Amino acid sequence: MSTLPKIAWIGLGIMGSPMSENLVKAGYQVTGFTLEQEKLDRLAAAGGSTAGSVAEAVRDADVIITMVPASPQVEAIAYGPDGILAHARSGALLIDMSSITPQTSIDLARAAEEKGVRVLDAPVSGGEAGAIEAVLSIMVGGGQADFDEARPIFEALGKTIVLCGPHGSGQTVKAANQLIVAVNIQACAEAVVFLEKSGVDLKAALDVLGGGLAGSTVLARKKENFLNRDFKPGFRIDLHHKDMGIVTDAARTVGAALPVGAVVAQLVTSLRAQGDGGLDHSALLRAVERLSGARV
Ligand code: NAD
Repeated sequence: MSTLPKIAWIGLGIMGSPMSENLVKAGYQVTGFTLEQEKLDRLAAAGGSTAGSVAEAVRDADVIITMVPASPQVEAIAYGPDGILAHARSGALLIDMSSITPQTSIDLARAAEEKGVRVLDAPVSGGEAGAIEAVLSIMVGGGQADFDEARPIFEALGKTIVLCGPHGSGQTVKAANQLIVAVNIQACAEAVVFLEKSGVDLKAALDVLGGGLAGSTVLARKKENFLNRDFKPGFRIDLHHKDMGIVTDAARTVGAALPVGAVVAQLVTSLRAQGDGGLDHSALLRAVERLSGARV
C-alpha cells in the first residue's frame, strides 16, 4: 500500500496533462477530472484514474491540484455545488497552480479555511516544455508547514521551488513573470523584423544573440517559432492577455507604473482582436510585422 498522499487533479490541458502524468510516474495515485474526454483517456493510458465530476475526483483526496485557465474557472470549481469546498474532506490540501489574480487566491484561502481545507497558490513558469521535462519554476504563496508538506509533489513537477510569502504572493510573482516574458518576446519580435528587413541571416543572428547578454530562456525556447513562423501553442495569446490584465491591474492597485508592459498589453489585445488569440504568444511577431508592413 502506497503511503503517498492521494491526489485529485482538476484541469488536464496543455500544462495539466504532462504535470499530472509526472506525478503518476513518481508513484502517486492520481484521479483526474477535466472537460475533454480525450484528456481523461490520456491520463488513464498513463496509469492514472479518472472521475466524472469535480466532486467525485476530490472526495477521497488528500491533495487537490487545480490547473485551469483563469479566476472564473477556479472559482466555479472551488465554490460550485459540485465543487471542491462542498466535497473535499476536512484537512485536505488544495494547491491551485493556475495563473489567476492574487486577490482570488487570498479569498479562496479564507473561504477554504472555514471548511478545514488548507490552500497554497502555486503558479508555474516554464511552459509546456518545462511541464513535460518536470523543470518548472514553482512560485508559492501560503503557510510554511503546508509548503513543506507539498514540497515532494512540487519536486516531481519542477526544479526551482520557492515559497514567496503569504497567500497570493505566488500569484503576484507569477504576474511579474508574465510581464517579463511578454516584454522579452516583444523585444525579440522587434529584433526579428529589424534583422529580416536589414537582410541579415536570421538564424545566424539569433544563434549569436543567444550567446550574449541578449540571450534569454525566451529566446532559446521561442527561436524555432520565430524562424519557422510556427505559432502552434504552447502558451496561448488568450492566456497571456488574461495575465497582462492581472499584472496591469495589480500594479495599478499598488501604485507601480508599468509603461512598457502597458504597451505590450495593448499589442496582445490587438493580436486577439485580429483573430490570433489561439496562437502561441511568440505570435507577438505577427503584431510587429503588421506594424512594419512586413509579412504576416
Ligand atoms: P488549457 O486551456 O490547455 O487547459 C485548461 C484545462 O482546464 C482544460 O483541459 C479544461 O478542460 C480544464 N477546465 C476548464 N474549466 C474546467 C472545469 N470547470 N472543470 C474541469 N476542468 C476545467 O490551459 P493551459 O495552457 O494548460 O493553462 C492552465 C493554466 O496554467 C492557466 O492559468 C495558464 O495561464 C497557466 N500556465 C500555462 C502555461 C503554458 O505554457 N500553457 C505556462 C505556465 C502557466
